[in-house]
Order: sequence, then C-alpha cells, then structure tokens
Amino acid sequence: MPSMVTTDPAHAAPCFFAEPHEVAPGVLLFANFVNNYALQLGDDLVIVDPGFEHLSTLFHEAVRAWTRAPLRVAVYTHGHADHAFGLRAFLEAGDRPLIIAQENCIARFRRYERTHGWNAFINQRQFSLPQPMFPRSFVTPNLVFHDRLSERIGNFTLEFRAARGETDDACYLFIPEKRYLFCGDLIIWMSPNCGNPQKVQRYPEDWALALETMAGLGAEYLFPGHGLVIHGTEAVRTVLLDTARYLRVLIDQVLERMNRGEQPEEIFHAVEPDRELSSRPYLLPHYDHPKFIVRNLLRLWGGWWNGNAADLLPAPWATQAREIVRLAGGADAVVARGRELLEAGETVLAAHLAEWVTRAEPNHRGGQELKRDVYAARLQEEPSLMAQGIYRAAMNDARVALGEDPLPPSSGHLGILRPA
Ligand SMILES: [Zn+2]
Repeated sequence: MPSMVTTDPAHAAPCFFAEPHEVAPGVLLFANFVNNYALQLGDDLVIVDPGFEHLSTLFHEAVRAWTRAPLRVAVYTHGHADHAFGLRAFLEAGDRPLIIAQENCIARFRRYERTHGWNAFINQRQFSLPQPMFPRSFVTPNLVFHDRLSERIGNFTLEFRAARGETDDACYLFIPEKRYLFCGDLIIWMSPNCGNPQKVQRYPEDWALALETMAGLGAEYLFPGHGLVIHGTEAVRTVLLDTARYLRVLIDQVLERMNRGEQPEEIFHAVEPDRELSSRPYLLPHYDHPKFIVRNLLRLWGGWWNGNAADLLPAPWATQAREIVRLAGGADAVVARGRELLEAGETVLAAHLAEWVTRAEPNHRGGQELKRDVYAARLQEEPSLMAQGIYRAAMNDARVALGEDPLPPSSGHLGILRPA
C-alpha cells in the first residue's frame, strides 16, 4: 500500500484506501474511501471524522493499536454518513469525548430521521447498492458552534471555523502550533461535489470562500476528507486556491449569464469548467459533474422553472410521450431511429428517444431494449460516478421490464477510488 502523503499534488495519483499509517508526526490515517484521522496531542487523543458506522470497530482497533491516550475530542467536519457515524466502538470502550460539530449538524441529523426512506433510495441509486441503505442511529454532537470556536488541549489550540460547501454544516479545524489543517470534504481529490442531482442545496460560492480563507492560514499539512494528505506550505496553498478557482470559473459564468436574462437551459449548455484546472489530479470530475454544479447554482439563485412555458404546468410525461410517438409514426419508428442514433454514437439524443418510447408504451420490448442499451452505453462513456449511478438504475429498470436480472456494478465499481 502506498503512503497517502504527497508533496507534489500536481503529479500525484489520487488514492482513497490504505492500511492505517502515520501521515504526519502524531497523525494516524485510517483511509477506507473516507479519511478518518487520529491525532495525538501531548497525552490526549483527538479524532477528526470517525467515519462509517460499519467500520467503527476496525477504526477503533487501529487507533488503539497506535495509542492508549484518552479520547478528549471527536470532530465531525460535517454530518455525512461516511464521516460522522463511527464513534460507537469508542463509546462502547468507555471513551467520553467532547463531540464537536458545526450547529447545522443537529438539524441535518433531524432531517435524516424525517427523510430516512428518501435518503436510503438516493444512496442506493447513487452508489448502485443492492438495496436502500442509510444510517438510523446517530451519535449527536455535544458541543456545537455557530461560526467559530477555540478549544485548548494541553499546549495546543483547536481552532474551528464554520463553512458551507458540499453541506451547510461543514467546518474545518486548524491547529496553529502544528500548522495542521483538517478541511473535511472541502478538499476531496475530485472536482468539488457541489452539484449532486439528488441531494439538497449545496453552496459553491461559500465553498470557494472557505478555501480562500484556509489558503491564508499558512498550513504545512492539509488533511482532506478523502484522498491524499498534502505536505508543504506551497502545495497546500496551490490545491486550496486551484479548487477555489475551479468553482469561481463556474460561478462567474452562471451569474453573468443569469444577469443577462439567459434561460436556465441556455446557461446549462453554455457554461464549461476551466479545462486546465479540470485536468489536475485533485480536480478530475470522477464523482460529481461540473454541469451539475451549474444546475445547483441556478437552483440557488433562481426558481425551479426551467424557462419552457409548457413545462410550467405540464402534461404528464406519458401523455407527452404518447403524442410524440404518435407523430413519429409509432413506437417501432422511434426505436429504429433510436438505434441509428445509438450506433452513430449519439447517445444523448438516443436516450431521449428511449425515454419517449418507453414512457408511451412501457410494454414495447424494442423500446425497453433500446433503453437498456442506451444507458449501458452512457454508463460506459461517463466518468462521473453520480451520473453513472443514475444511468445504471435506468438501465436496470429496462432490464427488469424485459424480465432480465439487473446488472450490479462490475468489481471495478468505485475503481476510480480503489487502489489498483
Ligand atoms: Zn465525504
């Protein structure tokens, strides 16, 4: 297993899994897709992001093989399922830490209880899980803060700052005596995931601002929520500011076009990310998609109307689809044209035809076969895991309609995240 530290992020290969190892003096990294950190400060132990619930015991064992220091503080950089659910084994072993989070984490957990089923279905689709899954039990923070908080641990200062980015309950932790910066998912070794089509509002501009503020801290180590630890003041600054710039390029274009009165659909098609920044190893669009960030900005600053007056109070999709298919001369004609488009590599248009024909005539075999094959193709050509999850679900809906077994992700699923 490689060490998950880089001093040269521009040439590093992203990596998201490793055996537990020290990544900086006094810092143990437990990396299992998400990064859990244990930090020894004098005689005390601090945990930043205890991680997944189902890995709690493994994480606890790794930490306790490394230090017996009492757990004084646990930090949730935000309340997501991969970050804030792994304290169980520590509590069962008798640790009673301060559990620190930004105040919106409490409201997040309440929302998770109220929308448990919905979130379980989202997660199933996004990650192609065999069934709906989402955590049900919460270890609630016992110390929350609004915008900043400072705590002393022995000779060290824990400086917390609230942020919004992927979530509204983010925070980061800076320890000035060590120049350690724990930034949670404000850096994830992918393009920022602030566009997710299935989730609540995200905050690209606040995200950029938090990155720019962090870049001014002079940190020597950056400990991200996913991916490699970055060592070196200049390297840390570069990654933070490049990521902020990536976001600002999208934000500025969307805002300018909105203020010109362009319609959401035009803006969606016109706005593109910066090509050079998009090729950096820490900004590849392998999880979210830059176009989803455009959509999210439109939602942040605009209403939900898409600019098409027919869509304001529309006919049901099935009704529209039957009319389109009738005009085309029937389902067979639509399928035939869909096949032509698919063979020509026009998968985007072919997908529209597949949706029309299967919504007009759900029992038309050729239509469902077209839908199955179109989404199999889109799945192949799409680097964004969030998009892949939705395409795979659509492909499997067609397979089930055809009496075929749904196809699980290949063993290479999350391959972008797993070591070779
Ligand atoms: Zn995360």
